[in-house]
Amino acid sequence: MEMRNQNELFNKSKELVPGGVHSPVRSFKGLHTTPRFVEKADGAYIYDTEGNNYIDFCMSFGPLILGHKNTAVEQKLVSALSRGWSYGACEPYSLDLADYLLSRLKFVDQIRFVNSGTEAVMTALRLARGATKKNKIIKFNGCYHGHVDSMLIKAGSGLAGTSAASSAGVPEGTAQDTLILELGDKEGIINCFKDHKDQIAAIIVEPLPANNGLLIQDKSFLEFLRQITKDNNSLLIFDEVISGFRVAFGGMAELTGITPDIVTYGKIIGGGLPVGAIAAKKEIMQNLAPLGDVYQAGTLSANPLAMVGGLETLTQMVDENYAIVNGYTQKIVTLFKKWLNEYNDGQFSHYSLISHSSLFWIVPGEEINCVDKIPTDITEKFNPLFEVLLNKGIYLSPNAYEVGFTSMAHNDELIAELEKRLWN
Ligand SMILES: *Cc1c(COP(=O)(O)O)cnc(C)c1O
Repeated sequence: MEMRNQNELFNKSKELVPGGVHSPVRSFKGLHTTPRFVEKADGAYIYDTEGNNYIDFCMSFGPLILGHKNTAVEQKLVSALSRGWSYGACEPYSLDLADYLLSRLKFVDQIRFVNSGTEAVMTALRLARGATKKNKIIKFNGCYHGHVDSMLIKAGSGLAGTSAASSAGVPEGTAQDTLILELGDKEGIINCFKDHKDQIAAIIVEPLPANNGLLIQDKSFLEFLRQITKDNNSLLIFDEVISGFRVAFGGMAELTGITPDIVTYGKIIGGGLPVGAIAAKKEIMQNLAPLGDVYQAGTLSANPLAMVGGLETLTQMVDENYAIVNGYTQKIVTLFKKWLNEYNDGQFSHYSLISHSSLFWIVPGEEINCVDKIPTDITEKFNPLFEVLLNKGIYLSPNAYEVGFTSMAHNDELIAELEKRLWN
């Protein structure tokens, strides 16, 4: 393939696309180096347009649990492609995926496919409001739920419990229906239910918060959320867009045994193709159009290529594979820890590694699990580390708040190569 200079590509991209990127976290903002233009990928490696390769721990931000370009997924996709790529009609491919998923996800009866995690969350919120006939949603500081207007909300600067938009363009009225609380703050939640009696449609939570660092919560907190929503005729939404099919096939719901009322999926469910999904018990799902009065639709929903790619990916993720990928991750985390301690006379020795199943987060300072303990200078500290690793051919997610992902392709052979690159 033709070599293409990445600085030139990025300069051209900045002319044509805002900030040069189609999703802000790709922009290498604050870093000295420009984004790598990935031309191709295979297994645990990405290859840029200047002929360099990197061990990838970003993995498209989570969907690629099998690694890049898994051979069986590729074959299924090629074969699906030869039949056509969008029908806007009933087709057998989404049925096969739904059937497979629901046979392994024992806590839900029905599913609907959409095109992204954001779309899944948007639908879940509307469904919760439609099903409960209530308007307010509790969201936690430090949980990300996609770029839905009502989820781009932070705590207000005024009285406790007030909310404000965290993005321009989100109307104040929208912000008012989202109540922001802190992870772990049981008392705050109890008071919120008192203050907004019979108005709270749902609590939405990332049961494993992994979009603002990795903030592992106690199971007892999730149990508390389950109980208080039940007691108040509100719904509990587990946003498992990252954790679903990653921490276990059935995500945190399976791992903790806590059954949410609505679950959202994305990322791994499409194996790297654009898919999201909402799943729940039948009584709740029946509120969706065309049966119920909660409207939801999609021209490209349940796209046949995405359905086939998702099904092959998920079929390969038999339960035993979770122990395998978690084992690789522990070895990788141990290597990183050792290297952080040793590198350049301890330049990075004050970093901690927080990990859960096949996710990890490198954070300066102590191990933490709440937002207010995240160091304020985390970005200044992360950026030099990112660049040192990049120069060694190791690609982390290019932002201090993003976690690292491993896959079935981060196997022992890859781990040996990682060790070589770290100490090279
Ligand atoms: C990634 C993510 C989303 C958004 O999904 P997109 O496919 O990027 O729209 C929502 N919620 C969680 C928990 C996520 O990790």
